[in-house]
Amino acid sequence: MVGHQRGRRRRPDLRGLMSPPLSLFTRPTPVEPAPRLAEAIGLDAGRLWIKRDDLIGLGGGGNKVRKLEITMAGAIAVGADTVVTTGAPQSNHARLTAAAAARCGLRSVLVLEGEAPDRLEGNLLLDRLFDAEIVFSGDRDAADVAAQEARARDAYLIPFGGTDARSAVAYRDAGLELLGQLPDVGTVVVAVGSGGTMAGLVTALGTHRVLGVATGAVPDAHATVAGFVTDMGSSPEGLRIDDARIGDGYRHLTPETRDALELAARTEGLVLDPTYTGRAMAGLRAAAATSGLAPGPVVLLHTGGLPGLFGHAEFPDGV
Ligand SMILES: *Cc1c(COP(=O)(O)O)cnc(C)c1O
Repeated sequence: MVGHQRGRRRRPDLRGLMSPPLSLFTRPTPVEPAPRLAEAIGLDAGRLWIKRDDLIGLGGGGNKVRKLEITMAGAIAVGADTVVTTGAPQSNHARLTAAAAARCGLRSVLVLEGEAPDRLEGNLLLDRLFDAEIVFSGDRDAADVAAQEARARDAYLIPFGGTDARSAVAYRDAGLELLGQLPDVGTVVVAVGSGGTMAGLVTALGTHRVLGVATGAVPDAHATVAGFVTDMGSSPEGLRIDDARIGDGYRHLTPETRDALELAARTEGLVLDPTYTGRAMAGLRAAAATSGLAPGPVVLLHTGGLPGLFGHAEFPDGV
């Protein structure tokens, strides 16, 4: 266990945050044109847009903050003083849970897969900065250990990726936010991890306007997303998921993802990450090359993940 003793935090007065419901960032996030990147992948210069959820300010930013507004409000409503969640060592969700907990005056326990690395890099460094208690699950199942820790501490358990049918509503709202910005949007491309982000978008935009790109975070991205869409009361009929970008698996960098990172950086000064948004861009590029994009504007949802670039086992050698 990496961690240390600390005193109990004083419970802050959260009433201002709770009504209106917990607000952790300034909306709407911007939608920016990417003309040079568009042309580099064979699209008309005016057709490609980036929805910048990476610019959400809290804790280094990213899509998990939208879901955490709902989840943390739930934790506060039941009077929890600690939240527990789980993920890979470089989990963006774990990092942002720790940041959201700090912002709300709660403690956080992160149960991460495997063994403690020698150096705390990337997301792990930020986890420590946010004063999360980090537990490595070793060869035990991280979700089981998280459930145990939550019971032992009478803490609020946040699911893998922060996703359940309730928190995924945050991305229905984000889909509506995007429709306000680009009413004729044809395709939104999004990386699929725990599935909540894509599921929420589908309930706002329909299956035909969302292209998910699987990252290997869950064994069957299609079944996972379809399950949440159904639980949210919508139909998963026609769900579109590209599962050809996983390569050797979630933690590994693929050559086409590395190319996508370089292309976005060199055409737009836009930084993608090696696990999620780089794969999404590789999927977008493949869809553009095979006319897999519906007519109308194309949006890459930038879901964040920058710290993972600095914590990725293969990335420094891959440039
Ligand atoms: C978690 C994550 C995703 C995927 O979101 P899910 O709702 O878990 O599918 C995409 N991009 C980044 C950077 C993430 O951290």
